[in-house]
Amino acid sequence: MPSRLTPLRVLLLDLDGVLVDTRPVMESAWHQVQKDHGLNVPFEMYERHLGRPFADIMDQLGLTDTEAIHQTYSQASTAASHLARQFDGVAEVLHAFASAEWRLGIVTSKPLNRAAPLLAQLGVPFATVRTPNGVGRGKPAPDPILLALIDLGADPADALYIGDMAVDQEAARRAGVPYVHAAWGYGAPARPAPVVAESPEDLLRLMDTGPLLKGSQA
Ligand SMILES: [Mg+2]
Repeated sequence: MPSRLTPLRVLLLDLDGVLVDTRPVMESAWHQVQKDHGLNVPFEMYERHLGRPFADIMDQLGLTDTEAIHQTYSQASTAASHLARQFDGVAEVLHAFASAEWRLGIVTSKPLNRAAPLLAQLGVPFATVRTPNGVGRGKPAPDPILLALIDLGADPADALYIGDMAVDQEAARRAGVPYVHAAWGYGAPARPAPVVAESPEDLLRLMDTGPLLKGSQA
């Protein structure tokens, strides 16, 4: 085996609420679901569970007929996709990491057909994209993060995961990957308090301090 002179540096990122503001898309799609399926569940209850795969959110909400609901949600999301906005500075920050020879990967609970156009708009080279379309359990299980690491041939200790929900934090902890909470996203972190990035630009300081994050792991 060849020895590695420098560790791989891997930046794994969640999509919704970290790279792209898709809340207006999700809210519009959920309103369509409420209308078409006669559901009383407000968006505020739906969004509490963001970060999990859709079917898991339906379980959490105690809803049945989830396949039909998912179809409505998926079609309405595609129809409202023009409402998505990249967070300011995200593309520049990711390009900076790529230039510094970090490898970038996506771990999202958004299905691939809706994630791919958003990722293409960023114009950043992602070495792996893990969605619920692959094998394994969804977040908060560690599976998609571990699968992304396998894709890249990287150790958990050589990676960081950037998320915006407590389920992201839990998935990272269970995968043994240091977690950084994106404060501009949709959720609050859980305890123990993780490292927090206040803005996309704030992620740049991780380039030099990555190993220090080990002490902050749960
Ligand atoms: Mg998210």
